[in-house]
Amino acid sequence: GQERLISARISRLTERWFLLIARDLTEQERLQQMRQDFISNTSHELKTPVGAITLLAEAIDTAADEPEEVRRFASRISAEAERLGQLTGRIMHLSRLQATDELTTFGDVAIDEVVTAAIESNAVQADSEGVELVRGGDRGLYVRGDAQILIEAVGNLIANAIAYSPRNSRVGIGVRGDGEAVDIAVTDQGIGISEADQERVFERFYRADQARSRRTGGTGLGLSIVKHAVYRHGGEVKLWSQPDRGSTFTIRLPRIEAPVREPERRPKSS
Ligand code: ADP
Repeated sequence: GQERLISARISRLTERWFLLIARDLTEQERLQQMRQDFISNTSHELKTPVGAITLLAEAIDTAADEPEEVRRFASRISAEAERLGQLTGRIMHLSRLQATDELTTFGDVAIDEVVTAAIESNAVQADSEGVELVRGGDRGLYVRGDAQILIEAVGNLIANAIAYSPRNSRVGIGVRGDGEAVDIAVTDQGIGISEADQERVFERFYRADQARSRRTGGTGLGLSIVKHAVYRHGGEVKLWSQPDRGSTFTIRLPRIEAPVREPERRPKSS
């Protein structure tokens, strides 16, 4: 009897171990698959500008005695090279964000400063596209995180809002804090996103058809960078949108108390 009991217990234990190991394996397979997909998507995306540059270089060669043509091809080569540079930069950024063991510099981050910097980095673009950036909401809110990564995330949302908006429209950047979280919302009056696309726009390299025709330089990586950046901060991204009415992307982050500042020392009056 005793022996049977022991062997039953052992088999239950092995079963549990087996389940644990199996679960770990599927998780590893899933990660492996994700990496594989990333690499194949990425190589595919990089091939397009590389192919264009190759063709244009050949075209320059055959047009050698027509200076106008040569200049035209050269400027297209430099545009493609710029796109290639932007693409590789974004891909590296994204893969760094996804490497969970990467240590980022986490500290107390003032949302006011994040929003200011994100707006500033888009000011020239907004101006040239005739879009007004309107800032509003709560001030003096803090989160724990990496300021640079958060600036880039909010900046990407603002850049999209500008790119997918008509001239003379407004983009709102609003901040709201409650007991536990800070919401940063970017709202536009632009082309909007269909319901079917709303589920997919956070995927790497995904671009809605309308977007392709509107913003030719897009990479389809901006929103997946936003998503990963926000997840790394224990937050989430929400999207509300209606075609032809506009979109609101909201980044929600866990809130912390305002950090205690060293009281400023006043010079003694003599
Ligand atoms: P990109 O803008 O470079 O194409 P993103 O990853 O930033 O790539 O966005 C993915 C897609 O989501 C865009 O191609 C576009 O279809 C859609 N999208 C993102 N932001 C907006 C917006 N504010 N308004 C309408 N569509 C948007």
